Amino acid sequence: MAITGNISVHTENIFPIIKKFLYSDHEIFLRELVSNAVDATQKLKTLAASGEAKGELGDLKIKVKLDKEAKTLHIIDSGIGMTEEEVNKYINQLAFSSAEEFLDKYKDKGAQVIGHFGLGFYSAFMVAHKVELHTKSYKEGATAVKWTCDGSTTFEISDSEKAERGTEIILHLAEDSLEFNDNFRIKNILDKYCKFLPIEIEYEEKVLNNPAPLWTKAPSDCSKEDYENFYKELYPFSETPLFWIHLNVDYPFKLTGILYFPKIKNEFEPTRNKIQLYSNQVFVTDSVQDIVPEFLMLLHGVIDSPDIPLNVSRSYLQSDANVKKINSHITKKVDDKLEEIYKADRIEFNNKWESVGTFVKYGMISEEKFFERGKKFCLLQNKANDYFTIDEYKEKVAATQTDKDNKAVFLYSNDLKAHDSFIQAIEKRGYDVLRMDGVLDNHFISNIEHKWEGVQWKRVDSDSIDKLIDKDVKKESVLSEKDQTAIKDTFANSFGNAGQFVFENEALAPDDQFLTLITPEWERRMKEMQKMQGMSMFGNMPDTYRVVINTNHALSVKLSKMEDGEVKMQVMKQAFDLARLSQNLLHGEELTAFIQRNTKELSV
Ligand code: ADP
Repeated sequence: MAITGNISVHTENIFPIIKKFLYSDHEIFLRELVSNAVDATQKLKTLAASGEAKGELGDLKIKVKLDKEAKTLHIIDSGIGMTEEEVNKYINQLAFSSAEEFLDKYKDKGAQVIGHFGLGFYSAFMVAHKVELHTKSYKEGATAVKWTCDGSTTFEISDSEKAERGTEIILHLAEDSLEFNDNFRIKNILDKYCKFLPIEIEYEEKVLNNPAPLWTKAPSDCSKEDYENFYKELYPFSETPLFWIHLNVDYPFKLTGILYFPKIKNEFEPTRNKIQLYSNQVFVTDSVQDIVPEFLMLLHGVIDSPDIPLNVSRSYLQSDANVKKINSHITKKVDDKLEEIYKADRIEFNNKWESVGTFVKYGMISEEKFFERGKKFCLLQNKANDYFTIDEYKEKVAATQTDKDNKAVFLYSNDLKAHDSFIQAIEKRGYDVLRMDGVLDNHFISNIEHKWEGVQWKRVDSDSIDKLIDKDVKKESVLSEKDQTAIKDTFANSFGNAGQFVFENEALAPDDQFLTLITPEWERRMKEMQKMQGMSMFGNMPDTYRVVINTNHALSVKLSKMEDGEVKMQVMKQAFDLARLSQNLLHGEELTAFIQRNTKELSV
C-alpha cells in the first residue's frame, strides 16, 4: 500500500532554493550521499562488533553506478538501512528540517557556505528532478521500504523489492544537470572527495579510494618509505619532501594529519594551497587559510579534524576557539620539529636551509610567537657558504665589525656579482659578507632588525668602506683642503646631472677605490618599500647616488696637479664612467661612447 504525505512544510519551494544557493558547487551532492553511505556502513560495523547486529556482514563496499541510458545515478551501500519509521523520522522530518534550517541561516550568505557541510541528503535535489530511496534495515524481520520524491514537498512511501540489507539512492538527473551523466565527471568527483573515505568505494568495477590513509595510523607504525609513498600518492609530480610532521591529537580537540616540508626553491607562490582539509577522511577543501597559520601555507599534506566547524563563514572561523587552538598546535609542532632537526644534526639542517629557511623567515616575520623560537635556529649564510645562527654570527664578527656605538654591523649583499667591487674592498678590511638573496630577505632584515638589540644591517653598497662600519678613526688627507674642494666642485659641476650624483670627499686608504657610488641604507629601503606599495612618487624618480671621492688615491693627487682644461676633463670623465661601469650604471649612448673612445685609444 502506497502512502503519500507532506514533508513538514514551511517553505513551499525549498528545492529551487537549494539549487540556487549552492549553485556553483553542485558536485558536493555526491560527497554528501557517499558520506551518508559510509556513516551507515560504519554504524553497522559498530553494531556488529557489539553483537547488536547479527549474521554475516558480507561485502561492505559502497557502489556508485551510472546508468547513462536511464540518466540515473545510484549510490548503494550495505549499511544499517532504515525501517519505514526511520525513513519518516530521518528523511521526512529530520533531514528536511535541517535542510530548511540551513537555508534559513545562510540565505544571505550563499557564497560563503558553498563547499561546506550542512545540506546532507537533500543536496540530491541540486541535480535530480526525482529521488528514489530503497532501504532495508539490518533489524531482524525488517521489510524493505521505497521512498520517492519529485522535488516538490510531497513524498511517497511504498514497499520495495530490495532483498539485501542497506540503502540504494537513485537520482534521476535533471535536464540541467546532465553534466553528471558522464562517467569521467563522476569519477573525478569521487577522486576529489572520496579518495580517503574509510569504506571502499567502487565505481565502474574498481575501488577508487584508499580506506586506510597513512595519517590514520599510529606514527610509530609508519616508516620513512610509508611517508614518502604517501606524499607521492598526494602529489605525484612533486620532489621527495624534506621531512614531515605526523599530527595526532585527541584532546582537547581531535586532529590528525601529516604535514610535509617540500623543497622550495627561490620562489614562493606556486607551492601554496597544497594542504588538504578532511573531516573524518571526507575531503572538505584545499583552501585552509583560516585554519593553518599563514606562513605554514607553504607546507603540503593533509589535516583531518571533525572539530573544525565547516558550515560557517570565514570571519567566524577566524575567531573560533578550536581553530585557534589547532592553529597554535600546528605552529608549535612545526617549531618542535625544526628545533629537533637543528639539534640532532646541524649539517643536515644546514643542507636543508635553502628550503626550510623560507618557512622560518616567513614565520618569524608573520608570527610573533614563532619569532621567539625561530631565532634560535634561524640561520644566516655567508659568502663562504658557512651557516651561523644570528647569535653565533654576532659573536663571529664582534671583534672586527663593531662600530663606535658598540653595534655589531652585519654586512650583506643581495647580489654577490653585482656588488663585487664593494665586497672585495670589504674583504680586504677583514670583514665578512652575508648572502641575503632569498625572496624574503629584504623583508626579513627590516622586520627583525629592530628586534635584535645591538645589531645593524647594512648592504655592502650603502656606504664608503670606512663608513660602513664607522669606527671613528680619522684619516689624514694628503691633499690640502683647497685642492680637495676643487676636485669635488669640478666633479659636481661636470657630472652632477642635476643632483642625480652628489659628490663628497673622503680620505680613504690609497689603495681603496678612487670613486665609489653608494646609496645610503635607509634611502634604498625607503624606495624599496614605496615601490612595493605601488607608490610611484619615489619609485619612478631616477635613482640618486652619492659618489665618494677618495682624496688619498693617487689619481686625486694627480688631478690636483693637472692644469684645468680638456685633458683633465677627459681623465675625470674616464674615471667617472669606469665607476658607473663597475656598478652596471652606464647604459645606452653613454656606454657606446665610452666603448668607442676606449677602442680608439687602443688603436693609436
Ligand atoms: P546527516 O547525515 O547530517 O544526519 P542527512 O540529511 O544527510 O543528514 O541524513 C539524514 C539522516 O538520514 C541521517 O542522519 C541518517 O539517519 C539517515 N540516512 C541518510 N542516508 C542514509 C543511508 N545511506 N543509510 C542509512 N541511513 C541514512
